[in-house]
Amino acid sequence: MNIESYNAPDSIAEAAQLLQGGNATVVAGGTDLTPQTESGVRQFAATLVNIQRIDEMRGIGVMNGRIRIGGLTTVTDILESKLLADEAPVLVDAADRFASSQIRNASSLAGNLCNASPAGDMCIPLLVLDAEVELACWDGESISTRKVSLERFFTGPGKSVMVAGELMTAIEFPRCANRFVAAFLKSGPRPALEISTVSMGLSCSLTDGVISNVRVAIGAVAPTPLRAKRTEAALEGKVLNEATIQLAVETAGEEVSPIDDVRASAWYRKHLTGVYIRRLLNHVNGS
Ligand SMILES: Cc1cc2nc3c(=O)[nH]c(=O)nc-3n(C[C@H](O)[C@H](O)[C@H](O)COP(=O)(O)OP(=O)(O)OC[C@H]3O[C@@H](n4cnc5c(N)ncnc54)[C@H](O)[C@@H]3O)c2cc1C
Repeated sequence: MNIESYNAPDSIAEAAQLLQGGNATVVAGGTDLTPQTESGVRQFAATLVNIQRIDEMRGIGVMNGRIRIGGLTTVTDILESKLLADEAPVLVDAADRFASSQIRNASSLAGNLCNASPAGDMCIPLLVLDAEVELACWDGESISTRKVSLERFFTGPGKSVMVAGELMTAIEFPRCANRFVAAFLKSGPRPALEISTVSMGLSCSLTDGVISNVRVAIGAVAPTPLRAKRTEAALEGKVLNEATIQLAVETAGEEVSPIDDVRASAWYRKHLTGVYIRRLLNHVNGS
């Protein structure tokens, strides 16, 4: 497809109007788009909409009792956020394991989610934080928005419920209660600049040794970032002892459906899933 027009709007309304009709590609940091288009995996649509000038899509704050992060907020912004370090350190941990400084400076949070990779690192902490995404489009006269739970957002590798013409404007999640623990682990052959072999996030409360409000998310082990609901059910309301941890290890291993690929075998990913759930639960017990 030949590019027919290049646009750099400075408001969500203007961008949404340009995206109307659907034959347009949104460009944010370009860190996924550039390798995909250069390798021929994907082609640009006729209209390019570079959203980098839309300042209203940047920033991290609290709105109506929830944390709100603009879609264009970069992984570096997340890494450096005092608010997130205090209220959602699991997201900061994931940012810290993300690529290199150069890539983090360009990578937007919405870009990571919209790319819908099963190995997208920011998806995992946001799933355990019970995040939802805000999607905006032009309805002919004005901006119309809808919110979608991140759990229902991903539909397959590279696929989501977003429809042509929509822009992801923000990501929101509830502020976390006291006694809430959340942690993130990621593995790859190298310490940095590595696509996850397996990543995992867990959040829960621990009261008098009993684990509750459990959320487990696992990356790179299924066609989409996975909310591991059977593993959560195996843990919910239990005393967090060795028997419970062992049950979680076995359940998580059964719940994932990884593939063999150049980075790891399915067997190794299943094994690592068990290692990671044990490590995260031991972390909860020690905290
Ligand atoms: C060397 C290298 C290392 C990397 N390491 C990691 C890593 O460690 N972990 C990881 O998870 N990823 C990694 N990535 C992938 C990439 O950096 C991230 O997925 C990044 O967050 C994508 O954001 P972006 O702003 O660059 O998106 P872009 O490339 O601009 O866009 C990605 C997709 O999302 C769409 N899009 C972007 N923003 C919006 C929006 N607001 N609304 C609607 N659609 C939108 C685009 O049209 C495109 O389809 C790496 C990439 C490279 C090149």
